[in-house]
Amino acid sequence: MIDWDRLDLIVFDLDGTLYDQPPVRRRMAVMLAGEVIRSRSTAVPRMLGAYRRRREALAEAMAQDFAREQYCLPGCDPGAVRAVVSEWMEQRPLPLLRRFRVEGAGRLFARLSASHKVAVHSDYRVEAKLAALGLSTRYAVAAEDVGRLKPDPAGLRWLMAMAGADPSRTLMIGDRDDRDGEAARRAGVRALIRGRDFRHYNDPVFGHAA
Ligand SMILES: [Mg+2]
Repeated sequence: MIDWDRLDLIVFDLDGTLYDQPPVRRRMAVMLAGEVIRSRSTAVPRMLGAYRRRREALAEAMAQDFAREQYCLPGCDPGAVRAVVSEWMEQRPLPLLRRFRVEGAGRLFARLSASHKVAVHSDYRVEAKLAALGLSTRYAVAAEDVGRLKPDPAGLRWLMAMAGADPSRTLMIGDRDDRDGEAARRAGVRALIRGRDFRHYNDPVFGHAA
């Protein structure tokens, strides 16, 4: 059980935590297949696959200069990688997100915002996706803002400093124990992991929130 009255700051991850990723990924795969047919080239999906693997490796390595390194793929111009990532991972998924928002998220955000400080902490840019989801928070931090990918706790620590919140009065809500859960452990913060501890925001664990 979570004693919500003893918490000041609630930090949500975004992808997979505030919306369901599999149906968005399936629709993006269909769009990518169309791009392969149109361009008669598999360059874009190959580049996106390599970029995702590179980000995972940089997160594992706790790389300090990941913001520049993430776009450095073998045989690719970093500017071209950045443009493809922006189009296919940041812009094109936006219209899909609202439909797959996790059940109960809107009501929980409204309730928590009245009684707690609510924040989003993602390894990707937050603002456009959060707006597309129809949600807003007092604080938002992306990995590039703090120069570190999760599970580095830098983003979580930055949010606690901004909110003036102690680790014991902070809760991290994410979907990956090896990223969100581990960042929370390193910061001395308790975590709830979607898929393990709850499935949606009408779950009983949120029943006494706010
Ligand atoms: Mg996630």
